[in-house]
Amino acid sequence: MIVAIDGPAAAGKSTVARQVAVRIGATYLDSGAIYRAVTWAALARGVDLDDPRACGDLAETLEIRLAPGDPHVLVSVDGREVTREVRASDVSEAVSRVAAHTPVRRAVTELSRKMMARGDWVCDGRDVGTVIVPNADVKVFLTADPARRAERRLRDLEASGHDHDLQRVLDDIVRRDHLDSTRADSPLTRAADAVVVDSSTRDADEVVEVILELVRTRVEAV
Ligand code: C5P
Repeated sequence: MIVAIDGPAAAGKSTVARQVAVRIGATYLDSGAIYRAVTWAALARGVDLDDPRACGDLAETLEIRLAPGDPHVLVSVDGREVTREVRASDVSEAVSRVAAHTPVRRAVTELSRKMMARGDWVCDGRDVGTVIVPNADVKVFLTADPARRAERRLRDLEASGHDHDLQRVLDDIVRRDHLDSTRADSPLTRAADAVVVDSSTRDADEVVEVILELVRTRVEAV
C-alpha cells in the first residue's frame, strides 16, 4: 500500500502523513526533507544553487538518510545529523531553486523510489502522486488557504525554537508555491486521480480520518 500526499507548502502534509502511517502500520517518507538535505549541503559547500549540473552531481553523491522523528524526520547527510539545519530559514528560502533542477529531481526521485521499493508507505511532497509513484494506491492533494498555512507553520517553527514572524512565513510560503508550481520539471500539481482535501477548516485529526476512509475504500475494492 502506498499513500501519496501532495500539496502546497505548510498544508499540514507531514503531520497528517505521519499519523496516517502510524494508523495503517506504514512508514512515513518526507520527500521534501531529501530536497532540504541536498540544499543544506549545497549551501554548506558553496555550490552554485543555480547550476543544475553542480547541484545534481552533489545530490547523487550525498549519502542522505532519514529516520523516524517527531515533529520532523531525522535527517543525516554523509553521517552528520542535520535535522535542525534543514528547517532553518536559509534552507527554506533556497530549496525551491535547487529542487527545480532536473538532475536533482532525478536523484531524489530515484532515492525515494528505492526507499519505497518494499513494504507500505505514506509519502508526502509535491510530485509523489504525479511522478515518484504514479501508481500509488491512494492519492491525496492536501491544500488550505495561505493565511491558515502561514499561521500553522509559524506555530511549528516557534515550537521547534526557530524565530520567525508571520509576514515572513507567509511570504516564504507564497514564493515557494509559485516556484514549485511554475517549474518546468514535475511542477506541483494535482494528479488527475487525486482526491482534494482542504484543511483550512479541518484539524489534522479530521484530515487523517478522511484519508483513512480513502484507504479503507481502496482496500475493500481490491
Ligand atoms: O515539504 P517541504 O516544504 O519540506 O519541501 C521543501 C521543498 O522541497 C518544496 O518547497 C519543494 O521545492 C521541494 N519538493 C519538491 N518535490 C517534492 C517534495 C519537496 O520539489 N516531492
